[in-house]
Amino acid sequence: MAYRCLGCDRIYGIEKLLYTCPDCREVLLLEDQRFDQLMKIPGKTWHKIFDYRKMLTQPALRGIYRYHEFIGPAIPLDAVVYLGEGHTPAIEANERLQKEVGLRFYFKNDGQNPSASFKDRGMASALSYINYLLRCGHLSEVLAICASTGDTSASAALYASYLQPQVKSAVLLPHKKVTPQQLSQPLGSGARVFEIPGVFDDCMKVVERLSDTFNVALLNSKNSWRILGQESYSYEISQDFEYELGDKAVVVPIGNAGNITAVMSGFIKFFKTGIISTLPKIIGVQSEHANPVYRYYLEPDPQKRRFVPVTVRPSVAQAAMIGNPVSMPRVIRLVEQYNELAGCRRVFTVEVSEQAIMDWQLTANRNGNIACTHGGETLAGLAVALEQGILNSADVVVLDSTAHALKFSGFQDMYFSGHFPEEFEIVPDRRLMNHPVLVRPEDLKKMPAPGKPLTGLDFESFVRRVSEEIARMLDLKRMTSE
Ligand SMILES: *Cc1c(COP(=O)(O)O)cnc(C)c1O
Ligand SMILES: [Zn+2]
Repeated sequence: MAYRCLGCDRIYGIEKLLYTCPDCREVLLLEDQRFDQLMKIPGKTWHKIFDYRKMLTQPALRGIYRYHEFIGPAIPLDAVVYLGEGHTPAIEANERLQKEVGLRFYFKNDGQNPSASFKDRGMASALSYINYLLRCGHLSEVLAICASTGDTSASAALYASYLQPQVKSAVLLPHKKVTPQQLSQPLGSGARVFEIPGVFDDCMKVVERLSDTFNVALLNSKNSWRILGQESYSYEISQDFEYELGDKAVVVPIGNAGNITAVMSGFIKFFKTGIISTLPKIIGVQSEHANPVYRYYLEPDPQKRRFVPVTVRPSVAQAAMIGNPVSMPRVIRLVEQYNELAGCRRVFTVEVSEQAIMDWQLTANRNGNIACTHGGETLAGLAVALEQGILNSADVVVLDSTAHALKFSGFQDMYFSGHFPEEFEIVPDRRLMNHPVLVRPEDLKKMPAPGKPLTGLDFESFVRRVSEEIARMLDLKRMTSE
């Protein structure tokens, strides 16, 4: 394996952890220099290999390294760090929601990863690589460092803590721009946590300075090992749908653009090796409040496209609130390659309103899903893509719910309590609101309290009155005795 520079095409060995080209400073991608060997194995044989591995109990082959030859053939299996990431379920939406939306679709619940976001896929790869360097003596200690909109730091801190004491971690977060749940994660894993004024883009600059100047291991998606691990998302979709992707479309939110890079790259590798015979459509979604990638592709003529970073505004898709995505050069390269291989346009970008993100997230979750705001963003993106004819009713769509709903429950609270700050531009729809009801009948003299239970008649009347109140509010009918 080797790093390839996307700027000058130079190749570098993997004995050292590189983030950008030492020569021209462009971002890198990892490549397997013997990829041609993989192409000699028939696609059908690969299906058997992956399907067989699915039945094995060896930990290293249970997660993303089930696709070892594609994820990191240079990493020996005994260096693999497996914390239960990957193999997340693709759950078909219920009939009611599919009808409302207008086509068949699934949520692939990447919030069911160990730190509750898809970031664990890339982190398992990055930390397995670091573990490999430690084991073969190329490194003796590491300080792993990252900037984050919340989930990267949660994941980095978790995987680093597994490799104590040789690996320690420090994370930089934009002050008050991550949710309390996300902040609790690296704290709980024992990482050093630094809060920085500004937004993610500011944190990223500081972390880049640190990694350029000091001896630290950068765990942001600039680190191409992260991209490699995240490609497992595409491999799993291929396997989940029995390698038939002709009618499929995959929808992902775009923030720093590492994920969409990985998703494209993964499908390209499976396509080149004949494991899948069609490249699925890919739709990248951005909020109107953080939409630099969408804006870039608004210009139809590739020659005239110019990337312009944007100043982000508050977004409920907070993990994607990024104005200057690090992986933009990778995206540009891969979109071109993807469409070329497909023989027609197969990658699209759409933009959605903050309102649509929240409304669709809540609607999804009222129908048995566990989508985070970014999952809501993908569903909102699906609706827009359908409206614009990018998708039609014959397509079967896989939405990336990139994190667990619980990480972003604060936005649900704001929606339900009608306390969204104005700059989000969200007006709650009453039909989607929900509130707890305190049941405390006025006529009851005594109520139980923690440590002070009621007894006897007091307890009896408490139970009777509270039940009556609930039955009244729910309009329950009495059971009739036969
Ligand atoms: C990181 C993240 C994103 C954005 O992914 P990128 O790779 O930065 O484009 C979206 N949703 C969630 C929940 C995330 O944690
Ligand atoms: Zn270069």
